[in-house]
Amino acid sequence: MKAILGCYRTTATAAMEVETGLPPPWIRLQTKALLATTRMQSLSTRHPIQEWLANALRTRTAVISHQSNLENILQQFPHMCGRIETIETHIRPPWWTPTVKIKIETTKSNAKDQHDITQMHSDTTMVTIYTDGSGIENTIGAAAYNSATKSVSHQYLGSETQFNVYTAELTAVHLAIKQLWNHCECLIARIYSDSQAAVRAIDHPQRQSRQTIIKDILESIDEVANEYTHMRIEIVWIPGHAAIEGNERADIEAKKAATDPTLSQPHKYKPLKSARARYIKAAAKEQWQAIWRENTKTAAALRRITKGKYVKTGPTLYNEIANRNAAAKIAQLRTGHCGLNQYLHRFGIQNTPYCKCGYGKETVHHYLLECRNYREQRKKLRKEVGTGKMRVERLLGDPKMIKHTLEYIKATDRLET
Ligand SMILES: [Zn+2]
Repeated sequence: MKAILGCYRTTATAAMEVETGLPPPWIRLQTKALLATTRMQSLSTRHPIQEWLANALRTRTAVISHQSNLENILQQFPHMCGRIETIETHIRPPWWTPTVKIKIETTKSNAKDQHDITQMHSDTTMVTIYTDGSGIENTIGAAAYNSATKSVSHQYLGSETQFNVYTAELTAVHLAIKQLWNHCECLIARIYSDSQAAVRAIDHPQRQSRQTIIKDILESIDEVANEYTHMRIEIVWIPGHAAIEGNERADIEAKKAATDPTLSQPHKYKPLKSARARYIKAAAKEQWQAIWRENTKTAAALRRITKGKYVKTGPTLYNEIANRNAAAKIAQLRTGHCGLNQYLHRFGIQNTPYCKCGYGKETVHHYLLECRNYREQRKKLRKEVGTGKMRVERLLGDPKMIKHTLEYIKATDRLET
């Protein structure tokens, strides 16, 4: 990290971690271990490791002298004990082709035109169902709207920490297929979805998250198709928000489904693996921030300047800086470990902490805002950034100011080595 930042040897490790945006090694290791466990948990139910996981889950709190790694992880991190989806290597053999016709037009306008034409010629032998998934107020819901009977099916999925809108799009298609049981006399059934990803997943199921629901869709399709051999089922992509009335209606109903769990029965789907991974990463970040806040013994200077609202750390800030030499200067000033007398005196390199100008110690604050030797350079800096922003934390932390601060540093020639 010293090499990345070009900061002084004495800089606190915690400060360098914040400046580089790299979490402490033990947090990174912990995150990796938890993600690996999640991967194991979502393996096929026939995989031999499932037995070990089940055993560890049972014995994790038992008083035994030698705890296994799995037991330890499951005991220390309760969120790892929750249910999670299973991902099989395949749900359909490679030579499989869908029972339904899948249609994805190449452009949005083509898709809309096709939709409008087919709907103009619709009659009682056809059934049209619009589907949509929605995330609103951190909850996920799905709906299928049948434009012939004006009936709607809803499904509440749960919080967005466990499911996502894409899952809802698939669930909505499933709802639509179940509705087909009410249309035994129909010859053509068209199911519209505005999610290309969902339509493609039904066409080419792979080893992927949300696999269980795709499997259910394919099985439902096969059941309907076996029973109603005269019915042709199509799953068609249409663009979202293209003023297609049925689609707009499905959108509204999906939002209702997301906000009102009482509209539908509970579902059986286990939370997604991707959602668990997201949770693990967010928790690690939170843990890191908590340590940074609580450990106040080191990196006082950086702690002080990173408090403000406009102040950024890590890559967000350093990406604004063109070259490494300049980035190093900023890192040195931000951590207070730099070529100014106050620091040099503290570590026994200079006899005095005082500035050559004779007015006070040469601190980062003095250098940037007070020193009389750099009045001219400071006048220019003030003109660029504005008087109100002449504060240490803004000058060293606001990505918009950094450029001007660097010009000042260059003009003063104080930090050149
Ligand atoms: Zn001075």
